[in-house]
Amino acid sequence: MTEKKLIGVDLGGTTIKFAILTADGEIQQKWSIETNVLADGQMIIPDIIDSINHHLKMYEMTADQFSGIGLGSPGTINFKEGTIKGAYNLNWTNSVYPVRDIEKGTGIPVTIENDANVAALGERWKGAGNNADDVVFVTLGTGVGGGIIANGNILHGASGAAGEIGHVTVDPNGFLCTCGKRGCLETIASATGIVHVARDRASEYAGDSELKAMLDDGQDISAKDVFDLAKKNDDLASIVADYVCASLGFALANVANSLNPKYVVIGGGVSAAGEFLLDKVNETMRINEFATIKDSTELRLASLGNGAGVIGAASLIKMK
Ligand SMILES: [Zn+2]
Repeated sequence: MTEKKLIGVDLGGTTIKFAILTADGEIQQKWSIETNVLADGQMIIPDIIDSINHHLKMYEMTADQFSGIGLGSPGTINFKEGTIKGAYNLNWTNSVYPVRDIEKGTGIPVTIENDANVAALGERWKGAGNNADDVVFVTLGTGVGGGIIANGNILHGASGAAGEIGHVTVDPNGFLCTCGKRGCLETIASATGIVHVARDRASEYAGDSELKAMLDDGQDISAKDVFDLAKKNDDLASIVADYVCASLGFALANVANSLNPKYVVIGGGVSAAGEFLLDKVNETMRINEFATIKDSTELRLASLGNGAGVIGAASLIKMK
């Protein structure tokens, strides 16, 4: 008998991604639907159920061929109750019951996890984490998210908030963060943070710079513009990139000093800056790492891109 298959679901604010995977984590089918956040997001779970049932029918598969469905979702997860609350980008203000409802609707057991953590699990299983037992994943997107795998398990902490690397303080007098603190890593190293740093530095900059000219001209700039110009040695862009990477390196060195992971993996849109970003971050990390950590923790770029979520969600079933 062949091993049962897995279903991974990555629930996001704009799309819901699905994949059918083998027990070894190879994606066999994948598809996505739009997230319907209207009417307090109450169509989201029924849409997930319908989409899974529809695709199983289409592929002539039945519920008993699957060992489970893993779901990665925004919001605060209550693992005991199988509920999610406070997923504001889905308009879920009250508790929802995905485990109970999706199990009932599909006949397949369901496991849930926070979305940042499933991305970490995906990179750990099939990406840059090389299936190691100790992996830290940090994602640089609109915000900065994180997931920590220690001794093979996702670290949840006392109230499920472990791994919030984006809110590590790197500058106590820095920009105000959406969380209410000042100088969180997210205010500097997220896509929006990088643009904020660029505008801030530009206001005091008097030299010759294309980035400065773009900002003075009223153009919208992105984190990608900053790194692209820094790669071309634009003076202001280099100042911004150096500060962003040093802040990241500082925060990640302290995470590494606390956890001694085998790999620290950087993903998310900003990580498209590639080796240029990695080398700069690594430089500061090395300076601030304890000797044993320096010898045993390696900084890497994520390798799965958008697929990390569904793969990591599916891996939840194997971890049960
Ligand atoms: Zn914060």
